[in-house]
Amino acid sequence: MVLGVEKAGGVVKPSSRSERPTPGGVPGENTQMKFACPCGEVIRDQTDFLPHKAHLLPDQSLEKFEDELWLLVEQLRLKPVGSGQKALWDGMVRLRSLYLRALYQCPVCGRLNVDSLDHQRGYSFVPEEEGTPCNLLATSTRAARDDAPIP
Ligand SMILES: [Zn+2]
Repeated sequence: MVLGVEKAGGVVKPSSRSERPTPGGVPGENTQMKFACPCGEVIRDQTDFLPHKAHLLPDQSLEKFEDELWLLVEQLRLKPVGSGQKALWDGMVRLRSLYLRALYQCPVCGRLNVDSLDHQRGYSFVPEEEGTPCNLLATSTRAARDDAPIP
């Protein structure tokens, strides 16, 4: 997988992971990331709610992530109503950057692209079976995708 950052003129150039946004985008960081899949498709990560992107939480980190989330909620519970929004945002951004890595699926060839442990590069994995769905990272139901009323 070749990583790239969109520059003037829309050129895709190889880049280090440090130019890429952290999962979900952190204010002040570059949010114009894109990369070229080996099949030629350009995978863009320039907004939220992407159907071809997920966030990977290693099982080894699950309990620590949940513990820290619980602690964050407890800290906010002690604050006056309405005063904890910035603290909640800051806490969530910190948890994302500490525990989650980006995972992308190419909508054309179905390759999964996974960030390395140090977030410095990505690795791609080609589906073994022809006909593997290319939307494995999308939300599974219309209601959950927020594009249809919940029955
Ligand atoms: Zn592809």
